[in-house]
Amino acid sequence: MPMKDTTRHQGKRRQLVEIVKKKGVANKAVLDAIGKIPRHFFMDSSFEDHAYQDKAFPIAADQTISQPYTVAFQSELLQVKRGDQVLEIGTGSGYQTAVLCELGAKVYSIERQQELFKKTKLFLSKLGYRPKFLSFGDGYKGLPEYAPFDSIIVTAGAPYVPKPLLSQLKIGGRLVIPVGDDPQVMTLFVRVEATKFEKKEFGEFRFVPLLEDKN
Ligand code: SAH
Repeated sequence: MPMKDTTRHQGKRRQLVEIVKKKGVANKAVLDAIGKIPRHFFMDSSFEDHAYQDKAFPIAADQTISQPYTVAFQSELLQVKRGDQVLEIGTGSGYQTAVLCELGAKVYSIERQQELFKKTKLFLSKLGYRPKFLSFGDGYKGLPEYAPFDSIIVTAGAPYVPKPLLSQLKIGGRLVIPVGDDPQVMTLFVRVEATKFEKKEFGEFRFVPLLEDKN
């Protein structure tokens, strides 16, 4: 794991922020987080040179670290305020988790791959990120014991919208979830009343699938 953040890395990161901005992300806190977090730390050293391209890349266990634009776009849709209680489904590399921490959220995150769960838990704490709770388990169920959440972000492609995630939102809470097979449609649900949800769609994205059973 390359743990040096050189001026070359920092320069590339500033360029990445410009790319993400050009693609339409405007939220300053989100852009600052992308500009601050050394994404190359979250990737295999063999991909280090590609860390500041706006692309998804393979991580362990056949999974991917999401494309920076996608991370920024989803983070913007969440409208995170400092102190918000945020649930992430699909911890993966921990990059999105780190973005949420930078936004000042109290972060809860679930990962179903044990190898990734262990590795990322250790790694985030080494980097100094302190999510409230990292959970090894099935994201379809959410985290009822810590609900309700101000927002929930799903970072894998969901064949359908899991009911527990909707029911674990506060009133006014937001669920950002890519729905469908390949590709997925980025979808926002806002819980406007206890039993009333507003739905908005935001175009096509590609994610690894949200899997239903533990292996
Ligand atoms: N947020 C991650 C994205 C990783 S890809 C990042 O920034 O790197 C999606 C992740 O979702 C994978 O790690 C995969 O193992 C995980 N995943 C898939 N199905 C899941 C489920 N049912 N519950 C929890 N995590 C799941």
